[in-house]
Amino acid sequence: DSIPVITIDGPGGAGKGTVSRILAENLGWHLLDSGAIYRVLALAALHHDFAPDDEESLVALAGSLDVKFEVENERELTHIILEGEDVTLAIRTEEVGGMASKIAALPRVREALLRRQRAFRELPGLIADGRDMGTVVFPNAAAKIFLTASAEERAERRYKQLLEKGFTAKIDQLIAEIRERDERDANRAVAPMRAADDALYVDSTTLSIDEVVDTILRFAHEKL
Ligand code: C5P
Repeated sequence: DSIPVITIDGPGGAGKGTVSRILAENLGWHLLDSGAIYRVLALAALHHDFAPDDEESLVALAGSLDVKFEVENERELTHIILEGEDVTLAIRTEEVGGMASKIAALPRVREALLRRQRAFRELPGLIADGRDMGTVVFPNAAAKIFLTASAEERAERRYKQLLEKGFTAKIDQLIAEIRERDERDANRAVAPMRAADDALYVDSTTLSIDEVVDTILRFAHEKL
């Protein structure tokens, strides 16, 4: 495991996605958006009408999931293809996010997705974005970050993101959904969202994206 990994864990809307993309581009490294994997599984489960606690069916689905991440051009977003269908936008709804967080609480579902996530570790290095990247999936990562922000600020950011993607949203509802999802992600028995003991804790509430990226790069250079 000499291939370097930088893990970025934290709650939704803290800027992990944007920051991870910039870091990957900056270093010329691969990128794992692990949340997207849970979201794709959630979307497939919704298509199949599986209940969020139907662990048996969900584990089978996780094992056979035909999902591809296609990087068109490094500056473009990665297209996510589920069974030949482009689901890049479809997985970003709050409905899918909520379902993802429910099925992500099932230990055997997490287990079934481990190998798929670890396969992203390729030379020259990997930026891994998620909830348990530094604690479970890549415990020997070179540099671990826990990136967070206040629930209000995260709701505000998600609101803007959703509008940009052509969805409509209500800010109060977003705050409530974010709180509910944080609560579930932080309190589940297996791989709860938490900072690894050796993680750098970054609160981005009042920081710009550039400031967050600089902070992480400085920390990573010390560690690598
Ligand atoms: O980060 P994102 O909002 O796309 O993640 C969707 C859901 O997937 C999270 O709320 C969380 O429950 C789950 N997830 C997880 N472990 C990860 C990444 C995401 O449990 N490493």
